[in-house]
Formats: sequence, structure tokens, C-alpha cells
Amino acid sequence: PTLFKNRESLAPEYVPDALPYRDEELRSLASYFRHLVTDPGSIAQRVLVTGGLGTGKTTLVRMFATGFTHVARERGVSLDYIHVNCYRSRTLFSIVHDAASQLGLTTPSRGFSPREIVDMILSFLEENDRYAIMVLDDFHYFASVVGRESVYFIARMHEAGDGSRRLNLVFISANTSTTGFFDPVTESYLDRHVVRLQPYSSSQLLGILRYRARLAFQDDAYDEEALEFIAEYEGVDKNGEGNARHALTTLLVAGDIAEREGARRLTVEHVRKAISRLSREIERVSDAIRYSPLHELLLLLSIVRLLRRRNVKGVEMGEVEEEYRLLCNTYGETPRRHTQLYEYVRNLRRLGIVDTTVKNVENRGRTTIISIPYGPLEELEKYLDALIWRKKD
Ligand code: ADP
Ligand code: MG
Repeated sequence: PTLFKNRESLAPEYVPDALPYRDEELRSLASYFRHLVTDPGSIAQRVLVTGGLGTGKTTLVRMFATGFTHVARERGVSLDYIHVNCYRSRTLFSIVHDAASQLGLTTPSRGFSPREIVDMILSFLEENDRYAIMVLDDFHYFASVVGRESVYFIARMHEAGDGSRRLNLVFISANTSTTGFFDPVTESYLDRHVVRLQPYSSSQLLGILRYRARLAFQDDAYDEEALEFIAEYEGVDKNGEGNARHALTTLLVAGDIAEREGARRLTVEHVRKAISRLSREIERVSDAIRYSPLHELLLLLSIVRLLRRRNVKGVEMGEVEEEYRLLCNTYGETPRRHTQLYEYVRNLRRLGIVDTTVKNVENRGRTTIISIPYGPLEELEKYLDALIWRKKD
């Protein structure tokens, strides 16, 4: 007997068709972009959406932009919605390249500068009498890995060129204050055009959990108290983070545990087990690697597997590479080169997912030791494996 009816509807990428408790925020986004239907081309709007992890930033903006694009089209305004994820597109070039290809522009993957690509985007909009809302999701990550000039470039990329009033920007940042990465002028502008998402309270989380549990589980397959337990654990008024993704992942893992135990119903005890299994760090990491390239994930999985099998704190890069090659075999992938693997390790370290130290080893010179200073790793391994299969098709 299975408890789930639609397990997928608890996954982080699932887009629900309603977003309770965020009506006001949806309305303020609509008011910032009203000019696109009343007086298109009058201004190029820039808006900042901030809030902690799991407060619904990505879902809110997706929902708004998708709906608003339809409204605009009904009124005869050709509006495009571009969503760039900064965890996936990690350089200035890949951001603008991604944006161009979402507009259907074919730009070669080398030979052009970011400026030239932006100019192509702007003139495409101008020549075809189109407008765009371009979303830069998790922009804080981009800002933390690139130099100030790149942030400045993005913040002002709409300014030059013919179609300058056609490109509107939404920055999404998990940093609750803007201070830090924009230039002062942009910063004070965005300060007046900001939508702040507050962490969820227990009662809001309960509402969200009830709604998603109805979609995910068979009728009668869970105790209402199990949902209440999660909501109270996670609610900001009960000293939780107010993170809806945590709450939903906890429910998902609790459901898996209940199924594995062959239980007839998901109960509070399954939730307690799920909470003890999911550390905050593991949650944060699952979030950060969702958009990592396939081979970065394969490398991370090799590290996790080795650490678990050996039951040690850290493993050598050489061993990791061997494990990685075996893993590539299993998954039917061609292994990447050594230099590329080092680049992945550097990036995983920047994301705060692994730690590295350099050690002198007798007769062999210096070697890099990779460690993961949190855990348990079992859930991370499962998550990685599922993510890798998903990326492969
Ligand atoms: P963020 O981008 O702020 O980290 P997300 O938009 O990814 O957050 O939301 C995290 C998860 O929580 C998603 O699965 C989303 O569907 C869910 N979620 C967030 N807010 C709500 C809400 N108000 N109602 C229903 N589900 C929500
Ligand atoms: Mg997000």
C-alpha cells in the first residue's frame, strides 16, 4: 500500500498553482510593472525581491511573470519573460547568453563580448517591438563570485542601445538587505523598488502544508498532527526559519520513512525521524546544488560515497578522481579532465559545500584533502543520486 498519490508535488521544483499568503506581494509586483500595459516603453523598471530561503521568492516571481505576460499579450503588448538562474549561469557571459537564447536569439557560444550580446538583445526587442522582463534569480550568488564591474554591468545593461526602455529587470536575492553588491545609485533606486518576503509563521506553514499534503498523499494517509508538528517546528514565531521549502522537504522525507516502514499512516513519529535526519546544512546544500552541472554533481557524489564508505573526515583528491571515474562508468558518462574537476572542487568550496586543505604526504608531495563538515550524508547521497538521474534525461 502506498501513502503517496503524487510524491512529485512535494519536490522543490514543483510549481503550485496557487500561492497563499503572498497576495500583497503579487500586487506590488504588478504595480511596479503596470507601465508595461498602460504606457509600454515609458520606463525600464528594475525591482528587487528579497527574503530568506524558502520564503517563496522564485515561485512568486514565476507566477507573477507568467500571468502578467498573458495579460500584456491580451492587451496587444508583446512581452517576453526571461528567467536566469545565477547558480546555473555563473558568469557574466553565460547570463547574457542564456537570456539571449531564451528570447530565441541564436548567439555563438564564443566570439562575442557580453556587451555585444546585450546590444543584440536590445536591438532584437526594438526591431520587433517587443518588451521583456528579465529575472536574475539568486543574484546574491553571482554578486559573491564575480567582481564589482560585472554587477555594475548587469545593473545597467538596459541603459545603452536603442531598445533601452524595453528591458525590465527583477533581481532576486536571499540577502535581506541590498547593501553590499550594487553601486550606491542602483542601491538607492532598488531600495525604493523592493518586495520583501517575510519568513512564514506556523499558521501560514500549516496552511501551505495542508494544501500540498492534499495533493501529495492519499486521503487519510496522514495525521493532521504530523503537519502541525512540522509547522510549529519551522514557523518563525516558534523560533524556526519560516522556510516553506524546509517544511515541505520534511514532509516528503517523513512520507518516505513511513512508506519504508510499511506504515498505514504518516504520524508525528515519522516527522520526528525526518527532522533528525535532515540537518539544516544538508537542506541548504540541496538547495545550492540544484542547478549545478551534471559532472559537478557526479564529483560531489564521489566525495560523499567515499566519505561514507571509509567513514572518515576527509579524502584525498586522487581517490576522489578514481571514484569519480568509476561513477561515470555506472552512469554512462565520459569523465571530465583533471583541470575541470579542480574547477568543480573550487566551486563547491565557494558554495560552502566542501572544505579543502592541502597536506604534505610522504614521498608524494602535496595533496588536496576534501572534507564535508556536516551530515549525516545519507540523505545528501540519496538527493544527489535522484538529481543526477533527473539531469541525465
Ligand atoms: P525561495 O526562492 O525563496 O527560496 P521558493 O519559491 O523556491 O523559495 O519556494 C520554496 C518552496 O516552498 C517551493 O516548493 C514552493 O512551492 C513552496 N512555497 C513557498 N511559498 C509558498 C506558498 N505561499 N504557498 C505554497 N507553497 C509555497
Ligand atoms: Mg529561489
